[in-house]
Amino acid sequence: MKNLKNALLLRQLYQLKQLGYKYTSVNIFKEDEPDLTLPNTLETLEKQAKECHLCELSKSRNKVVFGEGSLTATLMLVGDTPSVSDDSAGKIFTGRAGDLLTKMLENVLGLSRDDVYLANILKCRALDTQSPSPTYAHTCHPYILKQIELISPKIIIAFGDLAYQYLSNDDSAMDDVHGTIVEKENYIVIPTYHPNYLLRNPSAKKEVFEDLKKVKVLLEKL
Ligand code: SF4
Repeated sequence: MKNLKNALLLRQLYQLKQLGYKYTSVNIFKEDEPDLTLPNTLETLEKQAKECHLCELSKSRNKVVFGEGSLTATLMLVGDTPSVSDDSAGKIFTGRAGDLLTKMLENVLGLSRDDVYLANILKCRALDTQSPSPTYAHTCHPYILKQIELISPKIIIAFGDLAYQYLSNDDSAMDDVHGTIVEKENYIVIPTYHPNYLLRNPSAKKEVFEDLKKVKVLLEKL
């Protein structure tokens, strides 16, 4: 029933768009949870995300970057928004930040990208990748929550402020919270700096190394 309601609403929005109306900010809905009915398999969830037009990022994206990796991963890595190269390739954590992430996984945790599941809060690239609008994140975050539910990881590394805030409900600065263990009902969240941040601030690599060592210890105890 909700799907039908959403489909009718979308059809009305498309009709309004054809009449010349423009997309508008969804700030007015900020206090409400997005009315999204999401499927219960990753395959259909990905299909729905790839056809999603719930926020205006759908207008500027080239490709939806849904996420990838092991569907039975114990460890999930969650970032904020696709990069320019992710948006072109339709793949997550590509380019220099992706290379750095792959090296950190291999060198500190002894894992490959295929051993973990990678996803972002936003599935479409935000134009301001360093500080994506919380409005878009609010609209999109049911997708990441559903991915977490379906993958069912034990540990999630939250890369950067946006990922941490949406996974922990805490808006503390990363400088204050990186490496802390946040217990959720079915998993643990550990925040640390985003690989993109490390490219701009290489001195923070030491902190990330220490945070990942904590993750390694936790993984060994599982
Ligand atoms: S960012 Fe998320 S909510 Fe916005 S259009 Fe893309 S998938 Fe849909």
